[in-house]
Amino acid sequence: MDNPHSRKRLVIGNWKMHGNQASNAALLEGLLAGAAQAAQCELAVCVPFPYIGQANASLQGSSIAWGAQDVSVHAQGAYTGEVAAPMLADFSCSWAIVGHSERRTLHAETDKQVAEKAAAALSAGLIPVVCIGETQAEQEAGQTRDIIARQLAPVLALGAHQVNRMVFAYEPVWAIGTGLSATPEQAQEVHAFIRKRLEGIGAGQVRILYGGSVKPDNAASLFAMPDIDGALVGGASLKAQEFLRIAAA
Ligand code: PEP
Repeated sequence: MDNPHSRKRLVIGNWKMHGNQASNAALLEGLLAGAAQAAQCELAVCVPFPYIGQANASLQGSSIAWGAQDVSVHAQGAYTGEVAAPMLADFSCSWAIVGHSERRTLHAETDKQVAEKAAAALSAGLIPVVCIGETQAEQEAGQTRDIIARQLAPVLALGAHQVNRMVFAYEPVWAIGTGLSATPEQAQEVHAFIRKRLEGIGAGQVRILYGGSVKPDNAASLFAMPDIDGALVGGASLKAQEFLRIAAA
């Protein structure tokens, strides 16, 4: 197993479709005021598209980076409603979540499209956070590894040069927004499997985040696992203090 301390810890907030200018301003202020308490850890927030300009204006020059929750596979063109990676880069985004389970489920995104989105993000200089994870039914059927391997395949096919510039997030679908986090041991087992796959193409030092009901009271035990390099946080990222306490863990 790798030494987890050789990889910088990373905690990313996924605000999903929450907030407005006033509540965002308060949240961003709270994050800026408390960021020093999580100085050991890299921090980022992925906000809804209309508020990327607000994040840019508010977080510029701080230790907190910002990004989007999705990105188009296309760089420009007649794709109504889509947002291109170069547009995100234009607002100094560093990050783009791709393949979140809500996009895979509600918008029928395929493994191949997720890989294309990851490549599109990289082309514009963004770091994709590639989300993978099994549903409850798949877990109960003992298919977790097969599903993860299937989701990873088109991404890994992009090659080590590309994959080494990504971050992965293992997010068991049954743990997202349910309050039912995977146990640290359960998550570690899957992270170790993902790491093996990454090692197989020469990308073993890429960071793998855990996501799924991470809270201040379970973060430390998850982060103690050797292959868990941080977290992708949904619900708890909407409260500055909770998010910062997770990062401080
Ligand atoms: C997520 O949406 O990526 C997530 C992990 O959500 P939550 O933390 O609310 O489970």
